[in-house]
Amino acid sequence: MQQHEVVVVGAGLAGQRAALAAIEAGREVAIVSKLHPLRSHSGAAQGGINAALGKEDSVDTHIYDTVKGSDYLGDQDAIELFCREAGPTVVEMEHFGTIFSRGDDGALARRAFGGAGFPRTIYAADRTGLALLQALWEHLGTARFRLYEEWELTSLIVRDGRVHGIVAYDRKTGEFDQIGAKAVVLATGPFGRIYGRTTNAHSCTGDGVAAAYDAGAALKDLEFVQFHPTALMESAILITEGARGEGGILKNAQGERFMGKYAPHVFDLASRDVVSRAIVTEVREGRGFPGGYVHLELMHLGKEKVESRLQEICDYARVYAGIDPVVEPIPVYPAQHYMMGGIGTDPHGATSLRGLFAAGEAACVSIHGANRLGGNSLLETLVFGKQAGIAAAAYAATASAPDVRAAELDQYTAPYRAWSSRKDGEDPATLRSDMQAVMERYVGIYRNEADLLEGVRQIRAVKARFANVRVVDQSHVYNMNLADAIEVGHMLSLAEVIVLGAYARTESRGAHARTDYPKRDDAKWMKHTIATRGPEGPQLSYAPVAYTRWEPKERVY
Ligand SMILES: Cc1cc2nc3c(=O)[nH]c(=O)nc-3n(C[C@H](O)[C@H](O)[C@H](O)COP(=O)(O)OP(=O)(O)OC[C@H]3O[C@@H](n4cnc5c(N)ncnc54)[C@H](O)[C@@H]3O)c2cc1C
Repeated sequence: MQQHEVVVVGAGLAGQRAALAAIEAGREVAIVSKLHPLRSHSGAAQGGINAALGKEDSVDTHIYDTVKGSDYLGDQDAIELFCREAGPTVVEMEHFGTIFSRGDDGALARRAFGGAGFPRTIYAADRTGLALLQALWEHLGTARFRLYEEWELTSLIVRDGRVHGIVAYDRKTGEFDQIGAKAVVLATGPFGRIYGRTTNAHSCTGDGVAAAYDAGAALKDLEFVQFHPTALMESAILITEGARGEGGILKNAQGERFMGKYAPHVFDLASRDVVSRAIVTEVREGRGFPGGYVHLELMHLGKEKVESRLQEICDYARVYAGIDPVVEPIPVYPAQHYMMGGIGTDPHGATSLRGLFAAGEAACVSIHGANRLGGNSLLETLVFGKQAGIAAAAYAATASAPDVRAAELDQYTAPYRAWSSRKDGEDPATLRSDMQAVMERYVGIYRNEADLLEGVRQIRAVKARFANVRVVDQSHVYNMNLADAIEVGHMLSLAEVIVLGAYARTESRGAHARTDYPKRDDAKWMKHTIATRGPEGPQLSYAPVAYTRWEPKERVY
């Protein structure tokens, strides 16, 4: 049983930045990560990171675009902090050694992204996440910390409303242990694997969010699920918004540049919720290609631009779709991409539990509100990762030693032993695909009451079957059957919160589009959904949105 001052769970951009801040504040830090840090999903980010560094651009415009993009559900105090920190954050990452693409004048190159008033997305070709992650990891290498590599968090240790550490197991040996901590920062990233068609990596299973929920922390706005408009038809591999930022256009089967109908001012660069709904509408109304997709055309940009600015996209299209985007259109359709909701935090990463902090995609500050703008998430991981690290360090500096009791380990691991000793029971992989099918069918881009009610019923039915889950593999070394079962359990808890929140919210806002309530309803619904775990399942309550300077208006692009 180990003990540390600050334990950061997750080694993506948010976790690494939190760890760095806590170390710089003088605390003793451990990072726990189920993946090698450089395998974190942050490394898959393609398009770029936002900062209003252009002469014509301003921090205020970035704030306004983010508030508007959020459909006025974002907390404006947090958004102001976020956009003010953007420039210094990107410059700091450049100083840490991130090799950003540059323009002819030698300045950081910027591309246009959806919902942005000016080109403000700074990038490293179409591998921005990997460039940032590598630079930060190398920088972190100059600091002292303990790394629990390929250790997987399963639950939090909580006593009297305070977090005292985590329970985790070493995938390499199968050993479970408790790791005590004065403060814990959860930075476990996305949970898109709740859906079948997603751009997220297999590891994006929301373990930290589910563990926080199990421990009594409040989750916020989980019903807001972002679908990215352009994922490859077959595999759902992401084709970055940068492709449209560089001038790519969407066309339906009639050869029509259909976005003009939905966003007459900005066409293909409307925000993601708008473009995703447009594609689904085109396909549903019979203007898609057979099999149900539209085309993303890059051919007119020329070979040199496509192959230099969108290298990875070229590789993906060629390898995974057999398409050469230099000469052929790319078949695309929306896929789940990002979770606007997460563990509710204040702008400094504090959650509703003492000693527990969260940052990155696992958290909901909330700056994205009902819809996130592309390029704002990489920035969020760094800005709020740092904030959470500072706050966790300050808390740990005065907190008493954690109260972790060796004898309690058995209680935490009892369910897993039961799963492994069953002679008969449910296969976790089948439960996962059943859950994914329910979420795709009933809780997708367009929603309505009948579907959502059926979604609640069916997710609860899968959850009930999960009570009888069986782990067949008895080995200790990399038992992915056990890992799978644990992760499916986490995702099922979160799926239930998503569908219930979506059912309750009788309006359309941002990514939450109800065909039976097509209008935004500010009088009734200008509020955050808060979900806590009750004896019978999620309990929903609501919290006000923070306003500073921006009055809600109708959102048109
Ligand atoms: C394909 C793709 C492209 C994207 N492109 C962009 C873009 O261009 N611009 C942009 O702004 N945003 C983009 N995003 C979104 C953005 O990349 C993510 O929101 C962000 O990187 C998440 O960072 P994170 O640090 O919160 O999580 P991650 O980078 O996912 O890191 C999570 C960490 O938690 C660890 N972890 C998870 N569960 C456990 C557990 N149980 N125990 C221990 N460790 C655990 C993992 O090992 C990992 O280290 C993209 C997302 C995807 C999927």
